[in-house]
Amino acid sequence: MAQISVRNVTKVYKGGVKAVDDVNLGIENKEFMVLVGPSGCGKSTTLRMIAGLEEITDGKIWIADRLVNDVPAKDRDIAMVFQNYALYPHMTVFENMSFGLRLRRYPKHEIVRRVQEATEILGIKPLLERRPRQLSGGERQRVALGRAIVRKPQAFLFDEPLSNLDAKLRVQMRTEIHKLRLRLQTTFVYVTHDQTEAMTLGDRIAVMKDGKVQQCADPITIYDKPANKFVASFIGSPPINLMQGRIIKKERKYYFEEGKLQVKLVEDMYKVMGPYEGKEIIFGIRAEDIYDKLFVSEASADNTIRAACEVVEPLGSEVYLYLNSGRHTFIARVGAHNRPEVNRDMDLVFDMSKVHFFDRETEKTII
Ligand code: ADP
Repeated sequence: MAQISVRNVTKVYKGGVKAVDDVNLGIENKEFMVLVGPSGCGKSTTLRMIAGLEEITDGKIWIADRLVNDVPAKDRDIAMVFQNYALYPHMTVFENMSFGLRLRRYPKHEIVRRVQEATEILGIKPLLERRPRQLSGGERQRVALGRAIVRKPQAFLFDEPLSNLDAKLRVQMRTEIHKLRLRLQTTFVYVTHDQTEAMTLGDRIAVMKDGKVQQCADPITIYDKPANKFVASFIGSPPINLMQGRIIKKERKYYFEEGKLQVKLVEDMYKVMGPYEGKEIIFGIRAEDIYDKLFVSEASADNTIRAACEVVEPLGSEVYLYLNSGRHTFIARVGAHNRPEVNRDMDLVFDMSKVHFFDRETEKTII
């Protein structure tokens, strides 16, 4: 068990690529921290520096109050699980799982006990004598997890552990990692490019882009109060609808306007948005905050817009509508009872209490 502290850490690779740029992260003891972001944003490099697999160019990393900058990976008392499992092909499952303990000269009975315990947790007891090539992808990943568990490390570091699995297995393993986490009560740092994994697993999520942490917070805060346009659009599926337009004032009321589209702001936002009157701004609304007017009891003309429904995607529990208002396309996510006709105009209601505004220059969240 350990807290991990990453302070002003930068990584410049040979050749000059700045992969990580002044990152700060405070990971609590027993916390599950997810690093998420698009490919190349520096999340793996950050994890590998914590693991000791990559040198730190600048900054400091502490694991459980020990400055580890110059501590080799093997002495950091952490276990890493990789996307490609990294199992030894010529060893059985038992040998793979016990390898680290044998290297460290643990007594035989202790090795057997720990492997048994881990195989029970992971449900892989029948596989102990098999070799990796005789296992499915999901089983291999369980063995890789098992090899990490037997070490009883201070922290687990996961680098995209589910990326090689098919969609169904990924969801299943995600739940298993969740259960494992509850059982092990240890610190986890988990790297993924998958925002659903990040949202479902993390106590907190650090969203990264271009080597920098854009926002670090619990999943609901990240979703409801994104720090900037990038976080708002990276987290959430389907992605948030964004459009650039202007704030205007008419008869003491403020509106967002773009072409023919005009929607009234809720009064709570007037104070913050008033100073933006006449200015260009980015407006964001999530797909689930747009409703079919037919199912809204109190819609007003102020927040209703007309759009053609171009595509209807029924997903069983809900329906995605791909809409076109002339200048804009956007997606609404509505209940399964909504089945509008394709290529017909329909009225849609924007829930204006849920919308976001971003500064056009800085892309930071205004509200
Ligand atoms: P992520 O895990 O978010 O996909 P990485 O941390 O792997 O991103 O990479 C961040 C940046 O550093 C990328 O631009 C990548 O090309 C670069 N990079 C990663 N590893 C190396 C390396 N060994 N040498 C040079 N550049 C690297």
